[in-house]
Amino acid sequence: MVKSLLQKQCLSHERQKALESKTVCVVGAGISGLTVANSLANEGIRVFVIDKNPFPGGRSVQYGCKATDSCLQCGVCLVRDAVANFKKSSLIDASFSSTPRALHRRENDGYDIEVETIPNPIDWRSCTECGECREVCPKNAVKSIPGWKYYISEHCDRCGKCLVVCPVGAINLERKRQYETFPALSVVISSGFKPFDPAVNLKWGYGANPRVITGSDLESLFCREKFLPSDPELKDLKKIAFILCVGSRNIVEGERHCSRVCCAYSLRMANRIKEEYPDTEIDIYYMDIQYFGKSFSSFWAELKRKINFIRSHPISISIDEQERPLVRYESMSDLRCREEAYDLVVLANGICPPDNGEELAEIFGLDLEAGGFLSAATNAASNNGSGRDSGIFLTGACRRPMGIAECVESAYGAAAGVLRYLGDKV
Ligand SMILES: Cc1cc2nc3c(=O)[nH]c(=O)nc-3n(C[C@H](O)[C@H](O)[C@H](O)COP(=O)(O)OP(=O)(O)OC[C@H]3O[C@@H](n4cnc5c(N)ncnc54)[C@H](O)[C@@H]3O)c2cc1C
Ligand code: SF4
Ligand code: SF4
Ligand code: SF4
Repeated sequence: MVKSLLQKQCLSHERQKALESKTVCVVGAGISGLTVANSLANEGIRVFVIDKNPFPGGRSVQYGCKATDSCLQCGVCLVRDAVANFKKSSLIDASFSSTPRALHRRENDGYDIEVETIPNPIDWRSCTECGECREVCPKNAVKSIPGWKYYISEHCDRCGKCLVVCPVGAINLERKRQYETFPALSVVISSGFKPFDPAVNLKWGYGANPRVITGSDLESLFCREKFLPSDPELKDLKKIAFILCVGSRNIVEGERHCSRVCCAYSLRMANRIKEEYPDTEIDIYYMDIQYFGKSFSSFWAELKRKINFIRSHPISISIDEQERPLVRYESMSDLRCREEAYDLVVLANGICPPDNGEELAEIFGLDLEAGGFLSAATNAASNNGSGRDSGIFLTGACRRPMGIAECVESAYGAAAGVLRYLGDKV
């Protein structure tokens, strides 16, 4: 798509060459930022990516495949592919564990971006992914994400065992905070979202009962290909509930908006658990099903044959005498309060605006919408949420709740906007 847009612009060979000497900075290496970076690199443009995580891929790189005998198009593969392409590209450089601190307009053109980095002890450029450090770590502090290198988490107690075994000297436990300035002609903000944390409301019992987990927790279990919790006390899950819209569509309990992804990911995960463990009984509590994909109606019709759908938003989750979560809800059929005990309850937590929206808005001259998501400054806004005049573009879930496929689409739009912007400058 980006290619065809460039072709439509009929750039001359000289202008194309001039374009290729430009650098674009992408803030946030989730699926949105990686898609922009990969698309621009495909056009020969140098990209510099900054992410506060020690790895690329954002939230969804730690989700799992929801396919049964066929792909259910959850989009997680797209993230893995984007990480793989990013890793291969010679035109993309990155700084991880880094955050932008200030933006200065250059006199001639473009920007200087001040970036603060607290480097991870593992230098991702040198790491060969041999895994030796993970083998010897007594704290289980060496982590990895699918398709990427290793990094050291906050559980490290600096014992130094990993240093001794690393065959390429990629580990340095003494790395110091550093400040650098990077030049860029254009900047893309793709800083993503924050998942709703149900611990803020005692009614959900999240954090107090290990049998109550979130959709984010279940995604990580799926990612490790262990669909159900490994805690031996949680074996034999005969009855599971999913509660949709946790933190979404309810201004008192969370956000006013629909998160657009919780119904779909819950239904796909419930379907996969049912395929794997056909004797498990699954109830899904829902207000109404919001789904934004193709072929959904046939999938839902099929699902209704094996899963019970209960139209209600539960009142609370307590604990029964066997320490099982007890879901209290009002039945829509007779408007009576009922209680149902489960072996596991999954709270389908939704998408909230990121905590750092205000800071990013201030640095990059963006607007913060009433809901907390970012938008292009009013005087620079265009239809796809981009600043045509400023060269500062926004994409992905930092703008509003969206799923992976929609993020990819939005990122192509931002990449096309950047190309147009750069094209006008050469
Ligand atoms: C529980 C759950 C399950 C989901 N399952 C699915 C699913 O199955 N299918 C689907 O399509 N969608 C799913 N989604 C939605 C999916 O997570 C999002 O669509 C996607 O992650 C958004 O990608 P993004 O790149 O816009 O943001 P993110 O994935 O949030 O990535 C943003 C990146 O920006 C970085 N960043 C943030 N601030 C800064 C800063 N100041 N400086 C530097 N870097 C910064 C972050 O570290 C991060 O790496 C799910 C959502 C939830 C909550
Ligand atoms: S990760 Fe999602 S999109 Fe990929 S095969 Fe699995 S179900 Fe399909
Ligand atoms: S220093 Fe010790 S605790 Fe830290 S990552 Fe290395 S082996 Fe693990
Ligand atoms: S031992 Fe060194 S090269 Fe091997 S995975 Fe660890 S950091 Fe990377």
